[in-house]
Amino acid sequence: MEKYNEVANELIEIVCPKCRFTKIIHFPKEKLPICPKCGTKMAIKELLDEGKSY
Ligand SMILES: [Zn+2]
Repeated sequence: MEKYNEVANELIEIVCPKCRFTKIIHFPKEKLPICPKCGTKMAIKELLDEGKSY
């Protein structure tokens, strides 16, 4: 009796691509939320860091 949903749950940092507001959620248990500041759909920060340009 294996449960895959427990393995996949992880704490990740998400970021708003527009105003850079960040938040920690359980993924993929929680769906990607809408940014409370500007209403843009937030994205996983780790993925965005690849194309980082500071
Ligand atoms: Zn935002």
